[in-house]
Amino acid sequence: FTDLLKREADEFAQTLCGHRVSLYINSGMGFDSDIAEQQHIEGIGLYRTEYLFMMRQRFPSESEQQSFYQQVLADFEGKPVVMRTLDVGGDKQLPYFPIVEENPFLGWRGIRLTLDHPEIFLVQVRAMIKANLMTNNLHIMLPMICDVGEVDEANRLINQAFNEVRIEVLEADPNAKLIKPKVGIMIEVPSMLFQLDKLKGKVDFCSIGTNDLTQYLLAVDRNNDKVASLYDSYHPTVLAAIKRIADMTKDAGIPCSVCGELAGDPGGAMLLTGMGFTQLSMNTQNVLRVKWVLKKAQLECLEQLVEDVLHCNRPDQVKFRVNRTILNIG
Ligand code: PEP
Ligand code: MG
Repeated sequence: FTDLLKREADEFAQTLCGHRVSLYINSGMGFDSDIAEQQHIEGIGLYRTEYLFMMRQRFPSESEQQSFYQQVLADFEGKPVVMRTLDVGGDKQLPYFPIVEENPFLGWRGIRLTLDHPEIFLVQVRAMIKANLMTNNLHIMLPMICDVGEVDEANRLINQAFNEVRIEVLEADPNAKLIKPKVGIMIEVPSMLFQLDKLKGKVDFCSIGTNDLTQYLLAVDRNNDKVASLYDSYHPTVLAAIKRIADMTKDAGIPCSVCGELAGDPGGAMLLTGMGFTQLSMNTQNVLRVKWVLKKAQLECLEQLVEDVLHCNRPDQVKFRVNRTILNIG
């Protein structure tokens, strides 16, 4: 079986009928850029910058961040790298910036924290923009966006950071060319489902965080063992929400990918492909499995599967249909 999977490495992902799906990896600290090259990975779909912050005893300086990001961007030169701005709070704590709350997942997390501390956000974005000077493959992604006002505020700060860096860079080299990176958001808070039409002209792309979207849609803490059986991205309601996002972002002309765990699950990747997504981002170890199932399936069969599962009432009914399809194609 491992040999079979290895053979998938040499090819880009596509369905049996030749429908291409671009696969990206999720990363945060170390990654093996050779593996990424061998497996025909098309870039980094989610780079979790918080690990860099979690490993320090203080906030990393602008130049520390710059050299770190520069390395990541250089390792993937020629391919897009989606760097997410600091997403701490919730279950991710910084030892030097403790946050004590009764409901951390509903509290001071992600963009909420960095918009309240623009100095942290500006330093990070300036570091990213400087790191991008040579390679030009940076995309900036904003976590935990729950309203369009946050997008406006973050865009304002990103423009400020870009203008500051531009002045600095042009002073050093008047011929330097500085290109503004694309800016996108994570769709992981259910309120965004009802504001997708308002994103037009404000974001260049978006990416669905199915881990948090599942937790918030079903009101189930993703780390609480007592309710673990209720936490399920195969819940028909979660799938209906994701399908709605696929359709609405398509109508709005905003490219939308998926970077939550569902994208790296073979059955999940089948459903997402059937919904119309053509960009999936996952942990490196899932890439070959996903390629393998996609290669066995006709797009039409996956679209039919989505039709079927959206009529289900429970996650186990969805899983039954997904597994039956896997068995049929395998
Ligand atoms: C998600 O929420 O699905 C996601 C990709 O982000 P994280 O798991 O880092 O919250
Ligand atoms: Mg998330």
